[in-house]
Amino acid sequence: MKNSDILNIINKKRLNQKLSREEIETAFMGYLNKTVEDYQMSSLLMAICINGMSLEETIDLTDVMLKSGKTLDTSKINGIQVDKHSTGGVGDKTTLIIGPILACLGLKVAKLSGRGLGLTGGTIDKLESIPGFKLKYSNEEFIKNVNKVGFALMEQTEELAPLDKVIYDLRNATGTVSSIPLIASSIMSKKLAVGAKYILIDLKVGLGALLQTEEEARCLANTMIKIGKAYDKEVIPVLSDMNTPLGDNVGNALEVMEAYDVLNGKRGHLRDLSIELSSVLLAKSSDISLKEAKRRVIDVLDSGKALDKFIEFINNQGGTFKKIKLAPVIKEITTAKDGIIEEISASSIAQISLDLGSGKKKLNDKVDHGVGVVLNKHIGDTVKVGDILCYLYQSDNKSHAEEARSAFKIVKDIKSD
Ligand code: URA
Repeated sequence: MKNSDILNIINKKRLNQKLSREEIETAFMGYLNKTVEDYQMSSLLMAICINGMSLEETIDLTDVMLKSGKTLDTSKINGIQVDKHSTGGVGDKTTLIIGPILACLGLKVAKLSGRGLGLTGGTIDKLESIPGFKLKYSNEEFIKNVNKVGFALMEQTEELAPLDKVIYDLRNATGTVSSIPLIASSIMSKKLAVGAKYILIDLKVGLGALLQTEEEARCLANTMIKIGKAYDKEVIPVLSDMNTPLGDNVGNALEVMEAYDVLNGKRGHLRDLSIELSSVLLAKSSDISLKEAKRRVIDVLDSGKALDKFIEFINNQGGTFKKIKLAPVIKEITTAKDGIIEEISASSIAQISLDLGSGKKKLNDKVDHGVGVVLNKHIGDTVKVGDILCYLYQSDNKSHAEEARSAFKIVKDIKSD
């Protein structure tokens, strides 16, 4: 490829013109094949972030990403294959709860996951906190795991949507994450490579999500439904709030531990959302009523079967749950104010977790799997000076108390006047 080709393509997008399939392929495959430089692709991604892409361009980009690798031979999967993906949230560990639930109910959950993106966490980073857990498999081994356990998860390889992996990492390091066509093509290329007929998308909306308004989330949902239709797949979008962290724990190892707790009976919003998402996907894929799906989901949760499946899933991929280690320093963050908690900012909590080392700020940063934040108080709780709002799990002794305190909006309790 000539250097002028990529410059023309960047300029076209800068001027908000439509790119042809051939131009999209030239630029993006050029990046995968290393004939397009990081700085050139960063520039094109930023132009896409600012000017967007038409549906046709988005489908073309998805297709280029999909065809950058192979697809899984789904005829070798025994049973109804389903998939689930979140657009990314803070404390979002629902995959680790939903996967075991659906596997207990006879569905086959084969999932490719990603790493943390922007302020949001990634399932691959979470699972890497489990000593021994293996995330790289050949397609054949992956299918074997799916058939054996009912739930298997792996990282993208050179075989499945490898282009998405390199673009995903670059987006994370260049502030080009929050773009509807880039999110849609990234998620859908992975989903199509794995080939499930039913794909549930948990679209997170709010200050701790990649998309902050319902309007944007609906637009992303429609884009993904249309991409799915082009490949004869049923995309099932569910919008969920991401202004407040999901559950109590934010940070990789901490989140795996909270998934265990929910499967072991912990109540609250995280359990409720996991039940809702599992039920919607079960009802659609098995053609039963939502009420009946919910009954079955709650049954495998309450009987402990889903917890046993979670441990089976971890062990099958080489991990040992009991060996998970948390960061050694635990700091208590107390309130300096009496009142009622009105807000807990998901983005502030995510930023603290990222500052502690739970995700990458730059391409080559190392992830510290043991760090993070555990909320001790919730929206609506009454607090008094000195009460513990949250705990910070740290590997060093730096103070993040001010930032952590200000993530909690505490208002005066009018009843106490
Ligand atoms: N998850 C992905 O896989 N890609 C995105 O762009 C966002 C969330």
